[in-house]
Amino acid sequence: MLRTEVAIIGAGLAGVLAAAAAARSGAQVLLIDRGGMGLGSNSAMSNGNFCGPTSQYTLEEYVADTIRAGRGLNRVSWVERVGQEVPASFAFLAEMGVKLAPYSNYYLAPTPKPDVFRGAGFMATLAASLRAEKNLERLGGVQVRRIVMDGGRATGLEGLDAGGRAVRVAAKAVVLAAGGAGAVYAVNDNMKAIMGQGYALAAQAGLPLWDMEFVQFYPLVLVEPGLPKVMLYPRYPQGTRLINAAGQDILARSGIADVNQGIIELRDRLSAAMAREAAAGPVRVDFTGVAEEHWSQYPLAMLNKMRFDFRQKPVAVMPGAHFCMGGVQAGPDGATDIPGLFACGEMLWGMHGANRRGGNALTECVVSGRLTGLGAAAYAGDRDAPQPAQEDSAPLAAQPAERGGAELRALRQRLREIAWQRAGIERREEDLALGQSELAAWQEELARLPVSGPRPQWLRWDLECAGLFLSAVLSASQARQETRGALLRTDYPEADDGAWLKNSRLVLVSEGGWSLSHHPVEG
Ligand SMILES: Cc1cc2nc3c(=O)[nH]c(=O)nc-3n(C[C@H](O)[C@H](O)[C@H](O)COP(=O)(O)OP(=O)(O)OC[C@H]3O[C@@H](n4cnc5c(N)ncnc54)[C@H](O)[C@@H]3O)c2cc1C
Repeated sequence: MLRTEVAIIGAGLAGVLAAAAAARSGAQVLLIDRGGMGLGSNSAMSNGNFCGPTSQYTLEEYVADTIRAGRGLNRVSWVERVGQEVPASFAFLAEMGVKLAPYSNYYLAPTPKPDVFRGAGFMATLAASLRAEKNLERLGGVQVRRIVMDGGRATGLEGLDAGGRAVRVAAKAVVLAAGGAGAVYAVNDNMKAIMGQGYALAAQAGLPLWDMEFVQFYPLVLVEPGLPKVMLYPRYPQGTRLINAAGQDILARSGIADVNQGIIELRDRLSAAMAREAAAGPVRVDFTGVAEEHWSQYPLAMLNKMRFDFRQKPVAVMPGAHFCMGGVQAGPDGATDIPGLFACGEMLWGMHGANRRGGNALTECVVSGRLTGLGAAAYAGDRDAPQPAQEDSAPLAAQPAERGGAELRALRQRLREIAWQRAGIERREEDLALGQSELAAWQEELARLPVSGPRPQWLRWDLECAGLFLSAVLSASQARQETRGALLRTDYPEADDGAWLKNSRLVLVSEGGWSLSHHPVEG
């Protein structure tokens, strides 16, 4: 049994910031990730674009634009708090070695080299800076599978290491910083393992999940055979065109003047337009009219490494699952309704409403990560160490011989197809209901599959979480009978402010289903 004051699950941007803030305020911290420190996260794949107030962009403008993008479902007090905290939080990031450069209404992380994503650069710097932190230990290669509860309070966690051995941690405070779920979908731009594990840990511990129907799709994810399925990183230089199978200009046809504006502010509209055009044949990005000088600069320089002649040929793309707006409710200090359990980063609900404005995820990670680290450290400072009742809890068995890996990978692919077809960009009742029955059959098959050995055990648990996440998306989507932000219901094509300025709330009930209710948006 390991013991610490603050245990943090997830070493993406939010988890790393929480760890540094908690350690610097004197708490003893254990930062845990299934991979290495920082580089297996979505944060490390990100484009390093942080939205926020600047000297040319007021807090009021920032708040208004964020709520406009979120179509009125945002928690206004949290949006305001995030905007107010930008100077202190970005200064803290700079202390850790990452100095953001301000532009008109956003900030950019430094580019290490023009052919490397910014996220990889800043996460490497942050991970290195953690090594110098006193009070902080890092533990990689552990899949956390359960929050340990005692008398209604979170008192630790349990997991499995890469060798299949049980890992138990007793902690005064536990922080969930486990990211989103984009990789549950057949087309996505996320890290492969990001499949809703944090939402599952939270729901199983008893926390409600809010607004799970809102999954954001990024309009331009590569789907050209032979190329990796990654996003085409913005900002796109002048001369970039989006064309349909007949060679027509998609931006002109959908009334979006500029591709970069489409990506940042009208992401839901552009994704829907791309999906509709794709129904008639492949859609492509055409860089053939871009001036030569851009090919040695970020972001096009990254494409030079791929085996495709982007200068001569348009490349096939599709919108892909990118970000989850829904998640866990927490106060500004990251505290959830369960004493001792905190949350930060993409897992949080409230900032983005029905659709996230480009650049606001990283900003929220920095702000919520820092505030949550401080909040968890303060909570831990006031508490006695939990009694080690967990010492007697049933060990998670490790089995030596691997069994079930190929079947699990096939099930993963099937789940991704169900998500894509039934809970994708365009949704309607018939498909959602079909998705529920396909998912139930899939879950039964997963439960029946004999599995042994560490890697299959990890994958089976990931898939259980992914199934739980998808069932939340399907249920919340069925219940919202309108079109708003990233949720496009073709059978209810209008937004209905009279009936639907409400947030959805799902609670996992013991039989494995959800209890759903709707609540008026915070005034
Ligand atoms: C390609 C891409 C580009 C993006 N670009 C931008 C951008 O420029 N600007 C912007 O604002 N947003 C951007 N986003 C969104 C943004 O990057 C993410 O929302 C953000 O990085 C999430 O950070 P996080 O710390 O919450 O989670 P992550 O960075 O995803 O980290 C979560 C960590 O938790 C670990 N973990 C999960 N479950 C467990 C478990 N059970 N046990 C142990 N470890 C676990 C994972 O391994 C991972 O390391 C982008 C997203 C993608 C995919």
